[in-house]
Amino acid sequence: MSFSSLGLSKPITSALTDLGYSAPTAIQKQAIPVVLSGKDLIAAAQTGTGKTASFVLPLLERLGRLNDDHTLRGKRIRALILTPTRELAVQVEASIAKYSKNLKFTSMAMYGGVDSAPQKQALIWGIDILVATPGRLLDMAHQRALHFDELKTLVLDEADRMLDMGFIDDINKIIERLPKQRQNLLFSATISSDVRALARRTINDAKEISISDNNLSKPKIDQWLATVDKSNKSALLSHLIKEQQWQQALIFIETKHGAAKLVSQLEKRGIKAESIHGGRTQAIREQILSDFKSGKITILVSTGIAARGIDIGELARVVNYDLPAQADEYIHRIGRTGRAGARGEAVSLVSKDNFRELCAIESRLGHIIVRKEFEDFPVKKAVPISILNYVPKRKQ
Ligand code: AMP
Repeated sequence: MSFSSLGLSKPITSALTDLGYSAPTAIQKQAIPVVLSGKDLIAAAQTGTGKTASFVLPLLERLGRLNDDHTLRGKRIRALILTPTRELAVQVEASIAKYSKNLKFTSMAMYGGVDSAPQKQALIWGIDILVATPGRLLDMAHQRALHFDELKTLVLDEADRMLDMGFIDDINKIIERLPKQRQNLLFSATISSDVRALARRTINDAKEISISDNNLSKPKIDQWLATVDKSNKSALLSHLIKEQQWQQALIFIETKHGAAKLVSQLEKRGIKAESIHGGRTQAIREQILSDFKSGKITILVSTGIAARGIDIGELARVVNYDLPAQADEYIHRIGRTGRAGARGEAVSLVSKDNFRELCAIESRLGHIIVRKEFEDFPVKKAVPISILNYVPKRKQ
């Protein structure tokens, strides 16, 4: 199947050819015709499956069809994409710019933590597609820096993450301001009951699609875990980086303090690493991310939130230095690797006190993760044997 047979026209398909996309992914095959038809959509799809293009491409196509007799008025937007984090907003906007290079649309990523004056200035002439985090968007609406009366499409991207991050009130306030007549698209890695409740309030008569696990678009990720005593984690990590000659790793850690400490522990063992976390400025985070993408930085330690939205064509490996408290977060993290068909590796360092999280993750995956133990790091406090769907009563 080709992109043009899905109903996309030449300016878009030739941009895709230039990017080397030879065929649509599973989610794109299912979502593009629905979005083009103008229907509402609820899609369960993880990051790494090509979901951004699955809504951006038909959105561009529809805007192109509407554009003939239309000039955008000042402070107006025609499509709004809400994302949980600045990094994802930047990422999605970068995709829009790539896919629309043969079209004349304007787009912008708008997020908090940076001076709002340039964003306000850019809104003066109107923007076709605005990608925004909820807080800054509401701020701008309150200041009357933008109006929603010409909005045609609302996209909620990574809806589950937005709810996890406590954006529900902001999202509701934004939705109240939008024209009733609009197309709604909701994308979420998981469709929890909270996501469903949001969908019920927002979306009418939606077509629902889900990319199942055995789908071809499923990223190929080799998952394994190393059992290790907590006190030995940084030594084992250094050992793995050196012995297995890791050329690239994104390492997830729980706290910003932990991130800084791990970087210095690695550096003491001769491994150059950098860290990103909420305590660093947006400018520094962006610089580090771009150095990581270009390969200048090979080992990057990050807290969970700071790593959202990182899209690196072929990220070789993610490491859970700390297992996340939520099983879904594990899925999000490993989705950073093995994207769009490339092979990736997801490594977790698991100590006895992580057993509860491990059980939740394995139940969510529906399988036990392969375990490895390293001779030089004998485990004194053994991690109990996993049993699928077993819920430990107390924290170990
Ligand atoms: P996403 O799931 O939107 O985060 O996309 C994951 C990655 O897949 C991104 O790097 C995209 O550029 C890439 N991608 C999306 N669609 C395709 C496609 N049809 N063929 C090849 N790569 C794609």
